[in-house]
Amino acid sequence: MSAGKHGAAPHAYDVAIVGGGLVGASLALALAGAARRVLLIEGVAPDASAQPSFDERTTALGNASRRIFEGLGVWADLAPAAAPIRAIHVSDAGHFGAARLAAEAQQVEAFGYVITNRDIGAALWRALRSAATVTLRVPARVTAVEVAPDGAAVTVQDGAGNEEVVTARLLVAADGAQSLVRAAAGIDNAVVEYGQVAITAAVVADRPNDGTAYERFTADGPVAVLPLYTGGYGTVWACSEQQAAHLLALDDAAYLAALQARFGWRIGRFRRVGARASYPLKLARAAATVGVRTVLIGNAAQGLHPVAGQGFNLGLRDAALLAEHIAAAPDPGDPTLLAGYSRARAADRGGVVRFTDTLVRVFSSRLPGVSVLRDLGLVLFDLSPPAKRALARVSLGFGGPTPRLARGLTVS
Ligand SMILES: Cc1cc2nc3c(=O)[nH]c(=O)nc-3n(C[C@H](O)[C@H](O)[C@H](O)COP(=O)(O)OP(=O)(O)OC[C@H]3O[C@@H](n4cnc5c(N)ncnc54)[C@H](O)[C@@H]3O)c2cc1C
Repeated sequence: MSAGKHGAAPHAYDVAIVGGGLVGASLALALAGAARRVLLIEGVAPDASAQPSFDERTTALGNASRRIFEGLGVWADLAPAAAPIRAIHVSDAGHFGAARLAAEAQQVEAFGYVITNRDIGAALWRALRSAATVTLRVPARVTAVEVAPDGAAVTVQDGAGNEEVVTARLLVAADGAQSLVRAAAGIDNAVVEYGQVAITAAVVADRPNDGTAYERFTADGPVAVLPLYTGGYGTVWACSEQQAAHLLALDDAAYLAALQARFGWRIGRFRRVGARASYPLKLARAAATVGVRTVLIGNAAQGLHPVAGQGFNLGLRDAALLAEHIAAAPDPGDPTLLAGYSRARAADRGGVVRFTDTLVRVFSSRLPGVSVLRDLGLVLFDLSPPAKRALARVSLGFGGPTPRLARGLTVS
């Protein structure tokens, strides 16, 4: 480890988190009560319009995520901007299958809560600003990383271009899909392109939402229409790259007409649309979630298609379980401890990745017979209480130990 090569004595931390997006900021907050020196380095100010993690996208938070946010003390701040999902309606365009699920019938208050990323980011950073044990470097970018068995050295560049090297016993990669830390730790990342792009936009329709989340599968990709606390809807339209280029070039009226043709008239006529944003869709999986003095969490560890709304929920469970492993450990970067964390997360990570990838493939298949099978699947699902109960559990995680925060406990 080569710390201090820029002259000044390096600052030493127990944990350095690279990336203060949704997942990194959540981890920093989860460690705020622990007797640990924590450094959070984020390249873009949380309230900047260019902040890539906190844009106008909506996120559907599952019930485990709500409980984790309650444990982090931010739920009360978020709740006014969160729309509960009280029912889910799944349909297949041009086919007969449809399934309906009511939260009440599954004895849960809601399947989840829809909030914009901007609201989640703002609440997390408000709380972080008063977390005494967390040092915040923002806007500042990590430009180089060296890991060695005794610790990590991280070069941090502030907004004025000044560089400083800090050391940490554990380096956490929460720096998203293009993770610099993952590359520096020598961990491979396998990427499968879906050839799809998600277009997001808030819309207003004739009928204000009644808490139903709609997922409509179409031959080109799924369209999700989610309730917002404003009474309007957050839409996510996944489609082919060519179609996305066409849809993004349309004016608002033409875009609304195209969305209407794809989604149907369940909530009346679409009247207004906000700014559109687009995201290329892929499945990315790091070959390992831990390395020498390094842990990968959130999108640095895995990036998913948004069809099942699982990416952030999974990343938040990464952060919550990691926090409880390292909050009180004598050495937070100890290899045995990191291996234990990785094993504990494997079932949930593998389950969510398989579930999401299968959903994308089954519902975008044009093979003869597959559409009949999926329609039958939807009808059987509609008739089958155990299948509905299983889906209701999706919002709680896919296996392995449930993080203490998600059980209403403190991290240690
Ligand atoms: C259209 C769409 C809809 C989605 N809907 C849902 C949903 O309903 N439910 C759900 O659970 N998930 C959803 N997701 C997934 C979710 O948005 C992501 O899983 C989540 O944003 C990942 O957060 P992250 O913090 O891991 O990474 P990111 O959001 O990529 O954040 C990484 C952060 O690291 C910073 N950074 C990067 N490099 C450096 C560096 N070198 N130095 C300093 N800082 C750095 C960046 O500025 C950024 O703030 C959706 C995704 C998309 C695209």
